Amino acid sequence: MQTETSNKWLKSINQQKVLRLIFIEGPISRVELAKRTGLTQQTVTNIVNRLLSEEIVVERSPITSGSGRRPVPLIINGANMFAIGIEVAVKYVRGTLRDFNNRQVKEITEYVTAYESEEHPLRCISKVIDGLLSHIPDKIQLKGIGCSIQGLVDSRQGIVIYSPGLQWRQFPLKEKLEEMYDSPVHLENDANLLALVENLNGHLAESHNNITLKFDHGIGGAIVINKKLCSGATHVAGEFGHYKAFEGENAKLCHCGAKGCLTTLASVSGLKRNARISPEDLYARLLADDPEANRLFADITSAVGGAISNIITFINPESVLLTGKLFDKLRDVFIPSLSKYIAATVPETCQGVNLIYLPETPDESTSAAGLVMNQFFDVPLEQLP
Ligand SMILES: [Zn+2]
Repeated sequence: MQTETSNKWLKSINQQKVLRLIFIEGPISRVELAKRTGLTQQTVTNIVNRLLSEEIVVERSPITSGSGRRPVPLIINGANMFAIGIEVAVKYVRGTLRDFNNRQVKEITEYVTAYESEEHPLRCISKVIDGLLSHIPDKIQLKGIGCSIQGLVDSRQGIVIYSPGLQWRQFPLKEKLEEMYDSPVHLENDANLLALVENLNGHLAESHNNITLKFDHGIGGAIVINKKLCSGATHVAGEFGHYKAFEGENAKLCHCGAKGCLTTLASVSGLKRNARISPEDLYARLLADDPEANRLFADITSAVGGAISNIITFINPESVLLTGKLFDKLRDVFIPSLSKYIAATVPETCQGVNLIYLPETPDESTSAAGLVMNQFFDVPLEQLP
């Protein structure tokens, strides 16, 4: 029984190795695939036949020149496969349908004032998915659904552990969507997803150790060490929003039950709840030199600056990427004061850290669709030779 399972496993690893190579290097011939993977010609032929019959891969016509048989180049049948990416935000659900050539086919956004129940966000998600599915010729061509979630996510088990904005606690989103759509579902926390995308081919492509911090409705964070996302023992690492940063009269009660968490004043929702002000109004009052606004802003700057400075000291990253709606409104004043605070407080050994401010983050539904493609071509356990 065990041999049967490990044989199956090995077979799937070999198939994924071939598939990933065609995806990355295609057009590529069978001979080249055997050479690159170290598999026998016969094994490669069997795998390719299977991929051809499932219409995942197609043959291109060989370049004819001179005599002899030319190898047939293989490519991914990108126009025949689709991924759905969903961004589940506090005020909307946005979905995008993309083919595997990374072309957008359709985008749908469903706006909400506030979610009324645990099932409400799920209803919005399925409305968006149903709308997108009508643009796929055959449902079998859908290779997966990726979701970007604002909240604590156990991406391995596909559970939203906690998301106050979405009214979810231990919500089995992956299981529910897989039951409804019979397609693989992948979940990722929005900050982790951003870190993955930026590390792959964005602003963090050159960096091996970095931190991503998103100051938005709430606060999200991701830690990358040696190019790997650090998920922690229970898959919730990087929750910088609950870093204890405020003391005294600024130590407000957080929705997590603790007091003085960074998110209680240094996020859009925290500012509104605990200081009764929006980032726009705070910015206007700072420009008018309002003393109360100046005091609040100084407290937030030293709390956020102190937290980032400590994180840099602990992890020693090359780069820290900052983004989110809180910065969008306050960046003229916030980014310079933060840089100054951090430079003055990190140890000398960490002075070279690169602070990157990202005003526009990549569209999350597009990134979530990318997550599907990434998983589809992923080689489990083993890396390519
Ligand atoms: Zn908290």
